[in-house]
Amino acid sequence: MYRFAPSPTGDMHIGNLRAALFNYIKSRQENIDFILRIEDTDNVRNIAGKEEEIKDILTKFGITWQHYYVQSENLKFHRQMALKLVSEKKAFACFCTEDDLAKKKELAKSKNQAYRYDGTCEKLSDIDVLNCEKPFVIRLKKPCKEMKFMDFIKGEITFNSTDIDSFVIMRADKTPTYNFACAIDDMLEGVTCIIRGEDHVSNTPKQEHIRASLDYDKNMTYAHLPIILNEDGVKMSKREAHSSVKWMLDNGYLASAIANYLILLGNKTPKEIFTLEEAIEWFDLSKISKSPARFDTKRLMQINREHIKMLDDNELNKYLQFGQDVAQLAKFYTQEASTLNEIKEKIQMIFSSKNYEEFVNECNLIKGVLMDQELPMDYETFKKDLMEKTALKGKNFFMPLRLVLTGVKHGPELSDLYILIRPFIQEIIRK
Ligand code: GLU
Repeated sequence: MYRFAPSPTGDMHIGNLRAALFNYIKSRQENIDFILRIEDTDNVRNIAGKEEEIKDILTKFGITWQHYYVQSENLKFHRQMALKLVSEKKAFACFCTEDDLAKKKELAKSKNQAYRYDGTCEKLSDIDVLNCEKPFVIRLKKPCKEMKFMDFIKGEITFNSTDIDSFVIMRADKTPTYNFACAIDDMLEGVTCIIRGEDHVSNTPKQEHIRASLDYDKNMTYAHLPIILNEDGVKMSKREAHSSVKWMLDNGYLASAIANYLILLGNKTPKEIFTLEEAIEWFDLSKISKSPARFDTKRLMQINREHIKMLDDNELNKYLQFGQDVAQLAKFYTQEASTLNEIKEKIQMIFSSKNYEEFVNECNLIKGVLMDQELPMDYETFKKDLMEKTALKGKNFFMPLRLVLTGVKHGPELSDLYILIRPFIQEIIRK
């Protein structure tokens, strides 16, 4: 069983989408179910509407799931398991105040030591956690032996028992911490392989220790994906536009192109341009590079142009919403525009009323000749005819002609553009 477990706490980051894609691809390759689990146990950070947005985004990418869970619905199991651990003396109630802990952390810092919970409350005996009125958290006793786990990207990873202290699994408000809820849910939902961002590596021994303490003995495998760096080589922060999947979709990147780019990033693939369905045929997790991947906007743009060209004309028209068939024209404009939004702007220029700048007279002359004319199929005849009838030539012919047809003085070859724009010329010159 594979799973994607996003938190509804902000815009989906491309790193998260990459994890979703890889989990989905692996589940399809192995014909195993895929779970979507919304990790909503951090009430303070949850944002209304994000759960629906996550589902919408995944659907746009062609990612479907067989099981859907909302983590807070498992709260009763998290509490039951915490009580079980306490009753088995594997976990204990801790009454240390924030102040006490802050002082101890400060002390460790001044001695240049890593802070570890010192076990103060572990020695307290016979606390009735169900009837205790004083606020407390529940901590799981630290592991006493080294832990190893298998990572498909990093290889075998080992943690010393001293890397982890007796950490909190239930907060004072009786809600589970991220590690506890996540470890329990993965266990209850029968997850067998976890693919997620590298920032979670340090959580893995804690989650393994939680499950081991509950005597869960099924093996879990992992793949921790290297972080994504921005173009300056720094970890891509949530504030950077391209890090938000929603921003990319809103700005005219196609889901298929974003997926293509994210599968390609830091990977060795048999081809550069592909669909998600094609990637399912050959994707190999072990080919993902161990080192961080660097985001390359230019490459993403190039991939987006290729996917725009690959779109079915009807589908492209639906994205562009001009109310007429401009798909071929749009595909032609990928030579100077990379996103649907940029292409839309170019086509809007063609169909809007224009500023003829210093060529007002020439433009009006050209329009006058073209008005209500039957236009030839080929550009050479069109050009020759128009030149003769307007008696314009050179720059005084080509610039105004381009202005009349496209609204700008420079752009793609008119000889190539003509056949695509020809069906619209009568409409264009009436603007
Ligand atoms: N909710 C966590 C996140 O969004 C999930 C991490 C995981 O996959 O375990 O980062």
